[in-house]
This record gives sequence, structure tokens and C-alpha cells, in this order.
Amino acid sequence: MIATGGAESDCRCTVYTLAKVRLFAYRVPPIDNAVYVVADARGDALVIDPSFGEQEVLRTLRANGLRVLEILNTHGHIDHTYADAAVKAATQAPLAIHHLDAYRLSENASAGSPFFPTRQPRVEAERTLDEGDEMRLADLRLVVLHTPGHTQGSVCFHVPEESALFSGDTLFSSGLGRTDLPGGDPHAIVASLHRLLTLPDATVVYPGHGPRTTIGAERSWVEPLTAEGLIA
Ligand SMILES: [Zn+2]
Ligand SMILES: [Zn+2]
Repeated sequence: MIATGGAESDCRCTVYTLAKVRLFAYRVPPIDNAVYVVADARGDALVIDPSFGEQEVLRTLRANGLRVLEILNTHGHIDHTYADAAVKAATQAPLAIHHLDAYRLSENASAGSPFFPTRQPRVEAERTLDEGDEMRLADLRLVVLHTPGHTQGSVCFHVPEESALFSGDTLFSSGLGRTDLPGGDPHAIVASLHRLLTLPDATVVYPGHGPRTTIGAERSWVEPLTAEGLIA
């Protein structure tokens, strides 16, 4: 099912109906960030990377009567965290980010970002995440996979029961996240990508930028990838 964005927004919005949840997916300018709202049949929801999608997220929450249980960041880059504060203020939901990227929230507010000149409103995380932590939505588990390399505290959220993976800026359709920004590490991201290849080919990957893909579709270029190849 495809839904279009409101007239005042030029974002692209898609609604995916999975087995147990609906997934509202937005692509927001200026750098095609992907924003996700995962909602169960009772109306409980998780927001993944509000990015610059405050209006889109809040409009969807209102239109569908959704309660946000938690706001999740895949990592601390400002293009993923910018609307954390606005969505928190509107929903009173707690915010979670990996402990190694939590410092970036205050850094984004005070210094801006080396790759994005906008400062974001000040915000703090109520919960810091680590490998193996879980979020619950209905009877589903979203499991935290610590996948460093793009940043130290980059994570993917894996939903095994739905064969879904929210991959942040670790894995894109036909690409991977930059490793030349502070905290980036080519060796770490290659290890993280190889780890993701242990997931079933049918796993649908919802990345932090661009269109969705599958593990199977990305396997052929990830398998031979080496850190040396990235650095060269
Ligand atoms: Zn990033
Ligand atoms: Zn990004």
C-alpha cells in the first residue's frame, strides 16, 4: 500500500503492512533520510530516527491515534537525531541511543556537526543501548545489534519475527556508510557488514537513507568487501 505525503510536504511516505505491525516509512529532505514509525494493532508505536521528519511523524501519530513507547536512534549523526527533541516534546516518549553515541546528542546541540552545519535542539537520552538490548512492540522483539564503523555507537534494530532490519547508516541499498567522519572505522564497518550477512537472505533492510533492500540483494558486494579495499 502506498500513501502520499501531504501537500505541504515534499517527503515520500510509504506504508508497509508486515505480519504484525504497520511500518510508516518517510524519506525526508535535504539528504534523503529515512524515518520510520512502527505501529502495532493496539496503537503502540516506536519511532526510529526522527531526522527532519517531525511534521510527518506527528501527523501520522495523530491520524492513526498512535502512542509512542520509545524514540530510537540508529546513531548520533544530526541528520538522524535532529527532530528527537520535537518528537519527545510532543509525545513525552523516552529516547534511546547506543551508549557510545550518546555524547553526540549534546555535541550536535552545542557545536553542530562536522558534516552538517545546523545545530539541533538540546535533548538527552533516557536510555542508553548496548548489544542484545531489546524493545518490545506487541509480542515482537526489536533486538539491538551493535554494528560500529560508521560511528562507534551505530546500531541496527533487528526484528526477527518480521524478517526486518533497520540498518541506519551501516548498510544501504548498494552501499555502506561513510567511515571518514569522526568515530568512523573501515575495519569495524566491514566486520559489522559481514555480521549482517549472517541474517537470512530474505531479511528486508530498511536503511537510514534511500530505498529498502534485502540481505540477499546486498550479499554479492558485501561478501568480498575488505577494509583494505575501502581505504584504497
Ligand atoms: Zn550517519
Ligand atoms: Zn545519515
